[in-house]
Amino acid sequence: MTRVHVIGAGMAGLSAATTLAARGRRVVLYEAAKWAGGRCRSYHDAALGCRIDNGNHLLLSGNRSTMTYLRRIGAEETLTGPSHPLFPFIDLISGDAWTLRLNRGRLPWWVLRRGWRVPGTDALDYLALRRLERAAVTDTVAGMLGGLGTLYDRLLEPLAIAALNTKPETASAAPMAAVVRESLARGGAATIPRMPKIGLSESLVDPALAFLRASGAELRFGARIAGLTMTDARVTGLVGPNVDEIVGSDERVILATPPWVAAELLPGLTVPDAHEAIINLHFRAGIDPGPAGFYGLIGGAAEWVFEKPEVVSVTISAANDRLEQETDRLAAEVWSDLRRGFGLPRAMPPWRVVKEKRATFAATPEQLARRPGSSTRLVNLRLAGDYTATGLPSTIEGAIRSGESAAQHI
Ligand SMILES: Cc1cc2nc3c(=O)[nH]c(=O)nc-3n(C[C@H](O)[C@H](O)[C@H](O)COP(=O)(O)OP(=O)(O)OC[C@H]3O[C@@H](n4cnc5c(N)ncnc54)[C@H](O)[C@@H]3O)c2cc1C
Repeated sequence: MTRVHVIGAGMAGLSAATTLAARGRRVVLYEAAKWAGGRCRSYHDAALGCRIDNGNHLLLSGNRSTMTYLRRIGAEETLTGPSHPLFPFIDLISGDAWTLRLNRGRLPWWVLRRGWRVPGTDALDYLALRRLERAAVTDTVAGMLGGLGTLYDRLLEPLAIAALNTKPETASAAPMAAVVRESLARGGAATIPRMPKIGLSESLVDPALAFLRASGAELRFGARIAGLTMTDARVTGLVGPNVDEIVGSDERVILATPPWVAAELLPGLTVPDAHEAIINLHFRAGIDPGPAGFYGLIGGAAEWVFEKPEVVSVTISAANDRLEQETDRLAAEVWSDLRRGFGLPRAMPPWRVVKEKRATFAATPEQLARRPGSSTRLVNLRLAGDYTATGLPSTIEGAIRSGESAAQHI
């Protein structure tokens, strides 16, 4: 049977590999690291003495490709979250706390219920969301939605930062519109927050590897691909420190590396080249999980806090301007926010700061224009990755969809 070579075992590569394996294709998966998952993984942290995720990842029930992927690898039951579409928030400055609740159906009657919408907003304010229907790539989130006062400050801005990992003043409204189209616009049933019960790897990575092994796929770790041999507009070989593989004339390749690696391997390929950091802080502590297991934070250093099995984890998105900040000062600042919001003790417990410098590409109009499609000038090579032109922001859903699509068209 002819093989499909998948390079990169992040979400995009695992999605492509499992889609192919499920169709009975013979897959060889090459991963540079000794582990899979890429920017979405769990590991043991010696200082904390427990497993942590590299960063909090929030999914939505409307992430259809992700849900299909989880069903394929038998991991659907590994997610948790509230059974209803609800998002608890705490304003650290005013001390206000509220829970945004949506109804499940498409008709958004929840906006008519004062206790369900954001405090200080009117039902009519939410009509402004319809502006997103005509969002062009060149429109910024702040340009389209800024000026909506409380609704913007308490909901749209934090949601935009979470979805786009880019400051709303420079972020394009188009990928945010895509997220809204696939979630909120389809009703609350598509907007239920979902997250791993245990960890990212336990939900999204390990079951995929088990599925691939059971399907007879060949998994090669520590197998960095440093070059592609190309002949007559085809990939004919893969080379690297531990790899020297001939790609047969009827074989295919899916390149599912991050954009900067794809550009190195394929000279002339245009990819997004500006990135945004995400910083996660993990504290060996616990908070009341509330109705959802996480809270949106307004007016503090971080935007979201998650109650995890062994830690409280806090996310600072669009964090390029915080990368140079000393980690102990950052931890103290965030702990002080958590104390205010959750009445935690003054003494800071063991903590870990994880800075993912290139967490996602910057979702600016200029960077979006650099996203390549999946097909390439090489007839047997397709691209997959969150940076490809999926229309979605740089997310698990975008990565998984790109892998699924590359596998379907290879
Ligand atoms: C801290 C953080 C928080 C996030 N939060 C969210 C969230 O809440 N919701 C959400 O949906 N998304 C979130 N994301 C984004 C999401 O994690 C990414 O969009 C997604 O994981 C990208 O997957 P990918 O497969 O495209 O790329 P990657 O994960 O980068 O995978 C590429 C893989 O290729 C491998 N590789 C690289 N070079 C080579 C080579 N030469 N040869 C072989 N293998 C190679 C890498 O080791 C890696 O395993 C977050 C990301 C971070 C970092």
